[in-house]
Amino acid sequence: MSYKTSPLTEPVYEYLLKASLREPDALRALREVTERHPHGGMRICPEQGQFMRLLVELTGAKTALEIGVFTGYSTLSVALALPRDGRLIACDRNAEWPAVGQPFWREAGVEDIIDLRIGKAAETLDSLIRDGDSGTFDFAFIDGDKKNYGVYYEQCLTLVRPGGLILIDNVLWDGRLIDPADTERATDAIRTLNDKIHGDERVSMCMLPIGDGLTIIRKRG
Ligand code: CA
Repeated sequence: MSYKTSPLTEPVYEYLLKASLREPDALRALREVTERHPHGGMRICPEQGQFMRLLVELTGAKTALEIGVFTGYSTLSVALALPRDGRLIACDRNAEWPAVGQPFWREAGVEDIIDLRIGKAAETLDSLIRDGDSGTFDFAFIDGDKKNYGVYYEQCLTLVRPGGLILIDNVLWDGRLIDPADTERATDAIRTLNDKIHGDERVSMCMLPIGDGLTIIRKRG
């Protein structure tokens, strides 16, 4: 029964949600709006949001980075778990998607924690590094455009403090990574980064089959 991770059948998945999902009202409302969004498939699943909230609590994170906001469900998840004097710098190129989530951030009372930066995430992260913020962040969630994942990983590794966490989303990429014929740029970028992190002695890591795959990385001191 336990020699490998059990595949989740639909009824067992429904049980998991029923037995464990805690979703504050503003998060639930934002999820329902996001499910109707034309790009709604890009959202994270609610149990992943809950897991990320728990990780923020467990690590006592106060400062966080997010690369790829979309409608801000993950943003709201992280912000809800940060302390009131916490700060989340949330990066997205698209101004319209985060605008969907902003009323819900307000409703949840965490809008002032979230510092939304519209523009290329790599440039935003570079500017933080230039401003001397290296080694100061407790937590980072990478879920932006996949072809730049390798760039974001290195930038976040610079910006996160020793002992800090980096989460990387979509590391199983809907199973496409195991198809050698799939050499699309995004697929290649995730595959290359997964291989790199697996052998990266600068970090401790674990890949989890939650959502579309989530790698948890702790920067070694
Ligand atoms: Ca994602």
